[in-house]
Amino acid sequence: VDPSVRFKRVLLKMSGEVLMGDREYGIDPATIDRIAADVKQAIELGVQVCVVVGAGNIFRGVSGAENGLERVTGDYIGMLGTVMNALALQSAFEKVGVPTRVQSAIPMQAVCEPFIRRRALRHMEKGRVVIFAAGSGNPFFTTDTPAALRATEMGCDALFKGTKVDGVYSADPHKDPSATHYDTLSYMDVLTKDLKVMDATAISLARENHIPIVVFSVLEAGNFAKVVRGEGKFTIVT
Ligand code: UDP
Repeated sequence: VDPSVRFKRVLLKMSGEVLMGDREYGIDPATIDRIAADVKQAIELGVQVCVVVGAGNIFRGVSGAENGLERVTGDYIGMLGTVMNALALQSAFEKVGVPTRVQSAIPMQAVCEPFIRRRALRHMEKGRVVIFAAGSGNPFFTTDTPAALRATEMGCDALFKGTKVDGVYSADPHKDPSATHYDTLSYMDVLTKDLKVMDATAISLARENHIPIVVFSVLEAGNFAKVVRGEGKFTIVT
């Protein structure tokens, strides 16, 4: 591992919306190609990377339920959406020469591997990216919670939350010019101030297991490799 690296094994959580680029729906190929190039830079530094991706760009169980669909069914559709995103990311990663395995919490033999913790660890040790798909495999969760869960199970040094902004602010920086950037926060700050970092369940899990959460901009090219070295602008929750 390159001596400049601060976080040697990380889980990168991205919402589905991040994959949309400027589109209204679905996946923007240019965006996922750029994310793949960014992840490659980190892999080349010797960082071990696993990924959890959401499906907000395709389907969310809650919105399905609002339109009359049974909630649990909606959640399963959402989980299947994460599998689609995972396959698209895998393809982008492999195109730039980063060997990648998708492991699904809902077994889908013809499409990807099932989730097997020890196998996932071996993949990462060999320099492969592992994308964890289908969330937790259970309804009534969002992908934030399985992101914290997998980060814990995989012994990650940090949970990287890739967003459209470069960290957590006291207010929405796009709407309120007086919003200030937090460089550091405690898990308790996030919970009591109700800062929209991740779901409360995910924050609690990270807190119990002492996994720092790093909130950074995944839209800025080259930023991921910067932040794994502890450089650039981000918020760290500890
Ligand atoms: N989902 C679920 N269980 C999980 C993870 C996800 O039921 O463990 C469903 C849920 O309906 C959710 C959807 O999958 O709305 C997509 O995930 P999420 O909302 O986290 O996507 P993101 O906002 O990260 O794009």
